[in-house]
Amino acid sequence: MKVMIHTRLAPARALAHVRTRAHGRLKTVVRSFSADRAKLPASTRAPTSAYVHLPFCRSRCYYCDFAISVIGTRTDASEGMRAYAEAVTRETRATATRMRERYGASGIKPLETIFFGGGTPSLVPVDVLGEILGTLRREFGIASGAEISAEMDPGTFNEDKLRGFLDLGVNRVSLGVQSFDDEVLKRAGRSHDVREAELAIEMLRSCGVPRWSVDLIGGLPGVDAKTWRASLDRVIESGADHVSVYDLQVEKGTAFYRWYGENAKEDGSRPALPSEDASADAFREASAALRAAGYEHYEVSSYAKPGARCKHNQIYWQNGGWYGFGMSATSHVDGERMARPRKMNEYYAYVNALEKGEDVGVISTGGDGSDALFEHLMLRLRTSDGLDLEDVTERFGASVVDEIHDAIKPFVPDYAVYGVNDRGHRSSLHLTDPEGLMMSTEVLSTLISKMPSLADDR
Ligand code: SF4
Repeated sequence: MKVMIHTRLAPARALAHVRTRAHGRLKTVVRSFSADRAKLPASTRAPTSAYVHLPFCRSRCYYCDFAISVIGTRTDASEGMRAYAEAVTRETRATATRMRERYGASGIKPLETIFFGGGTPSLVPVDVLGEILGTLRREFGIASGAEISAEMDPGTFNEDKLRGFLDLGVNRVSLGVQSFDDEVLKRAGRSHDVREAELAIEMLRSCGVPRWSVDLIGGLPGVDAKTWRASLDRVIESGADHVSVYDLQVEKGTAFYRWYGENAKEDGSRPALPSEDASADAFREASAALRAAGYEHYEVSSYAKPGARCKHNQIYWQNGGWYGFGMSATSHVDGERMARPRKMNEYYAYVNALEKGEDVGVISTGGDGSDALFEHLMLRLRTSDGLDLEDVTERFGASVVDEIHDAIKPFVPDYAVYGVNDRGHRSSLHLTDPEGLMMSTEVLSTLISKMPSLADDR
């Protein structure tokens, strides 16, 4: 059986996949969901997590297709950020009003996780972040001990700003280093170098940030086994309690797509992308090195020291609910996923409509029963906790579990293994680390083709 990196499989991308990118944000690519199909039964519980998208970046990295606003070195950019933050606070208030109507005031529970992703949240002035956090606190409440994460990029903050974020309550930082090799960073269009990454790490340590993560991307042009191992070693040495390791995706519309996409012509001036075999080796190397250093590989791209899992991201993998605020942010409330507009003016129009109580006409990415089952399998199989078969029985019925047993057979035991309960019954299903996790897309493709409950009968 051919081993392939989960994130790079073309066939499965045509089906569906969920991935995170170097921004702690769930990005969902779904089958052709139609808005008029029956939705899942409404949850009786309002979310206690919020994702806030702060879309400003110095420049666009060559691999990035995120909804961002490039500010370059402009010194007047904070005006635009203030206008945007005002829209986010208005969206937050209007959403809270709708939620109170839906759940009643007592049904709104304080937020337990908040994630500022982007873009580059560390470009945003401290008082602007404070305004957004203050609004979340007033409208929803923030639980004591809540995890409040912010993505920060090297070269975009100093000690004053970091301390300012900490004073506001940010207690977890996700640092977008991506590589500890200057040439690789330059070829990826990153706006920082290794010296700035080292300075940023030093600041996180000296300012006593309670928890922090480093992001790395494997599969960047110019990365070889030696530079990859050096980046892994450096991240382990840094003392980060969490590491995210992403595999490069070459997305349409990016500079990388022009250079490395389907129709790209060979250009000797650029290093080639690492081969799939090299990417698979890099995945294995990351898993082995980080686990040997005491990190738990708890999700396909995520490693944590004991007790340092990212609580916010776990909500995504558990298929839980979260609010989304800001341009392009997704949310998952009452079983319905929604993606906000990706363009600034359309996002502002969406906020106006939301405030007026109009039908906001956002893209619905929620689905009916088979879509919900597929999402559930896809999310759970990415994690070391795996798929709880008793939970599947409860949510989708015992016959679905029988279908899973049949479909998964070719992958057991090399790529998938069962956990058993104290009665000796198979109670959970897990992909093996690293081989099974690398095969996750093929596993899902097989489940789709073999499970009648996942048949797309539309
Ligand atoms: S910093 Fe992040 S969001 Fe901004 S352009 Fe680069 S990859 Fe995209």
